[in-house]
Amino acid sequence: MNKLMKAACSECKGKLRRRTITQDFEREGVKVRISGIKAWVCSRCGEIYFEPGGADKVAQAVNCLFALAVAERQHKGSLRARVS
Ligand SMILES: [Zn+2]
Repeated sequence: MNKLMKAACSECKGKLRRRTITQDFEREGVKVRISGIKAWVCSRCGEIYFEPGGADKVAQAVNCLFALAVAERQHKGSLRARVS
């Protein structure tokens, strides 16, 4: 991946806009949601691009949330994290 953020979507060449997004993940019936993540979103097709290394960090956070949700059963199958 390029160090400089690309200006256009590699899927459709649409314009990328800096946005704060919310992503939902589901694994084995457990749902986690992370909101407040800064990312670049294509204004045409909605493709999401993270800063270099950002996708890995989100994946790590999601893995931790799933581990927490499984360890603490009082979450009733749903857990949220917010970045601000
Ligand atoms: Zn696009």
